[in-house]
Amino acid sequence: MPVPDRIAALSPEMTAWRRDIHAHPELGFEEVRTSGLVAEKLASWGIEVHAGIGRTGVVGVLQGRHAGNRRIGLRADMDALPMPETNDFAHRSTRPGVMHACGHDGHTAMLLGAAKHLAETRDFAGVVHFIFQPAEEGLTGALAMVQDGLFRRFPCDAVYGLHNLPQLPLGVAAIRPGTVLAAVDYFAIRLLGRSSHGAEPHRGIDPLPGATQLYAALQSLVSRRVDPHGTAVLSVAQFHAGTSDIVIPESVEMRGTIRTLTPEMRAQMEALFRQAVTGTAAAHGLEVELDYRRSYPPTINTPQEAALAAEAAAKLLGAEAIRGDFPSLTAGEDFSYMLQEAPGAFLLLGQAGEAEGSAVPVHNGRYDFNDDLLPIGAGCLVQIVQDELRDRAPLHEQRAG
Ligand SMILES: [Zn+2]
Ligand SMILES: [Zn+2]
Repeated sequence: MPVPDRIAALSPEMTAWRRDIHAHPELGFEEVRTSGLVAEKLASWGIEVHAGIGRTGVVGVLQGRHAGNRRIGLRADMDALPMPETNDFAHRSTRPGVMHACGHDGHTAMLLGAAKHLAETRDFAGVVHFIFQPAEEGLTGALAMVQDGLFRRFPCDAVYGLHNLPQLPLGVAAIRPGTVLAAVDYFAIRLLGRSSHGAEPHRGIDPLPGATQLYAALQSLVSRRVDPHGTAVLSVAQFHAGTSDIVIPESVEMRGTIRTLTPEMRAQMEALFRQAVTGTAAAHGLEVELDYRRSYPPTINTPQEAALAAEAAAKLLGAEAIRGDFPSLTAGEDFSYMLQEAPGAFLLLGQAGEAEGSAVPVHNGRYDFNDDLLPIGAGCLVQIVQDELRDRAPLHEQRAG
């Protein structure tokens, strides 16, 4: 596959960075070593560095050598997961209970590779913002950067991000307009009854019959209440009650997530969920405490930027390697917060190859990022810059005119 030679030549270096980061994983908002390494590398290539954005986030600013004032952002995530690594290769995690099991080590290394190449060549018109974000795994690091003035300080006419995808082969990319990944909302329900002796349930209010009926009611929301052409996933992942065989518990706790692909479905599921919880609790004489938290919005690619990214990737991988109709995933991504601020696209790059762990799903103790994907990812990012930042007026002037 025609990854440019100068980018392919960066492979050994990118692999070394990636394995170093993999061996030293850091949790969200604790990426001190990683962001320090990123800042040091960017600065050594003459890129202007701004650290401490959204706590441990870093932005590098690089001006092209051709006239043009269009600006784009390229984003990578830096955080690891709180889980043990079960691999035993040389670059395995050195920190017990912390692991790069989502490939953010690889995303960081490939954006560094793209930055190094672009800093050497600067063959574009305008400005590239290299955005290294903290805390993607459930902690909304992208939102932290946005709220810390990311796009006010570093305006972007378009922003691009990517993620490896073990279920697709290396050399294949899924790039589509519209919804790529789901919105994720968290719920925590506490149903409060009144404890009693297991021999005399009538002297208390047993919360379990209400809780089990609520569980069943929640299962029927997706199957009976919403349009079957839409997508919603409701998963109760925790169900806790009781401490003894002879005591009826005081309360039941249920926790989980709801994932949807459109704002309309998201609002409908939240309303139906609240109705089921309060109605079922009332029918059983239970009090209810409900914590419903809207987390990541859906990740929605704008058509123009999705088309540009697909064409850029096709130049490297061939048109037949681009899956434009790949189905939306029900996982979530906090790059969605950046896509609420600027047009852009999120690319999914296949990574299953010969390398150990490259076909293992993310968030698994045996996962590893495939180093063969590093030049492909860096090459795609560089090509996006070259296609985006040709010599031309900024988009907002074109639209105004
Ligand atoms: Zn992840
Ligand atoms: Zn991830």
